Amino acid sequence: MNPVSGELRQASPPHAQPVSRLLAAGPEAEYARHADTFGHLDPDAAAPGLLNLLEASGLTGRGGAAFATWRKAVATSQSAQKRLVPVRPVVIANGAEGEPLSFKDRTLLAHAPHLVLDGLLAVARAVAAAQVYLYAPAASIPGAQRALAEHPGGRRIQVVASPDTFISGEASAVVNNIATGSAIPLDKRRRLSDTGLKGRPTLVLNVETLAHVALIARFGADWFRAAGTPQDPGTRLVSVSGRGPGRDVVLEVPGGALLTDVLQSAGMDPATLSAVLVGGYHGRWVRPAAHVLAPNGPVGQVVRPGAGVIHALADGQCGLQATAGIVTYLAGQSARQCGPCMFGLPAMAGVLNRIAAGEQDPRLPGDLDRLANLVTGRGACHHPDGTVQLIGSALEVFSGDVRSHLAGRCSAVGIWAP
Ligand code: SF4
Repeated sequence: MNPVSGELRQASPPHAQPVSRLLAAGPEAEYARHADTFGHLDPDAAAPGLLNLLEASGLTGRGGAAFATWRKAVATSQSAQKRLVPVRPVVIANGAEGEPLSFKDRTLLAHAPHLVLDGLLAVARAVAAAQVYLYAPAASIPGAQRALAEHPGGRRIQVVASPDTFISGEASAVVNNIATGSAIPLDKRRRLSDTGLKGRPTLVLNVETLAHVALIARFGADWFRAAGTPQDPGTRLVSVSGRGPGRDVVLEVPGGALLTDVLQSAGMDPATLSAVLVGGYHGRWVRPAAHVLAPNGPVGQVVRPGAGVIHALADGQCGLQATAGIVTYLAGQSARQCGPCMFGLPAMAGVLNRIAAGEQDPRLPGDLDRLANLVTGRGACHHPDGTVQLIGSALEVFSGDVRSHLAGRCSAVGIWAP
């Protein structure tokens, strides 16, 4: 079967040129249905030439940072080989999903676990890994264990539970958690491709990235590039939310899709939305204009999908109050090992909450700027910088609301008493 011909799951999209590759085997596919749909993948046969195939495909990571997958794999493999005493690396499938608005990875693990395992085993074989891990939230582990029991290579893979914290999926926190049981990021100057788990070169790849690897290994780079654009080839899963509980949807969309098309495919009318948060809690607020969802491109035309999170704010909801709530949460998620993060983020959350609550002090936006300068670039991980980016986008997109709040008015709440 050609997986491109499948139906898009959980949506009836008129606009986004739906594709269904990753979920083409249908819901909760056991190994037999998976093999019927995609065919069996032998990691030994797939490994030679796999890294070249990944380079030709243009696949980038689907966990947030969008690094070229082949480049990470080659760096890890070369680092292992050039040691005085060569070692064999470690490969980790990262299914941690601490971002509260993301649910596409757990959906993928529930419905297409064998694609993830195929990709993991093929990459592990291509870099001659000694150890292979699947790192996933506790709720996904029973399903993953069933899949491992069925999968021909499942016994090679060790499973480790990720805690439900925001930074549990950061690559160095993943390695730290597997090594010590503590999902706290390591010093960002340390390159995991050189020194990762137990000192071995370590490759951490998002589970969706690995599922794409499994399909590229079967169908080739040109097949992968048949969806998406030359700059953003292939497809990606997106978690779309914002219309109330029970209405969240995972869509598979082509690279370079228009944000408005994706929203319409999820059943939303962009004209009824005041803003959209793209990329999750470390992402950006944008107006639902014709932005392209892609990892690279001119600011203002392109918005980075990050880990594929899209959250819509309905007309009439206050973006400043929504952002203040998110930043308060993020301030509580600091791993408390870097001062600027530990003290700066709660201070920023405090100022933002004062603006959101309608405190009429014109110095507050300046206080946020000053705190942002103190915090940016000062953490061992991206947490402070990602939080500052979110706040900056809120101040830009909701600039009219900031002025109104400082004047004692809110378009959502009404007029505060002076
Ligand atoms: S920047 Fe914050 S979250 Fe990141 S390691 Fe430091 S204290 Fe922890």
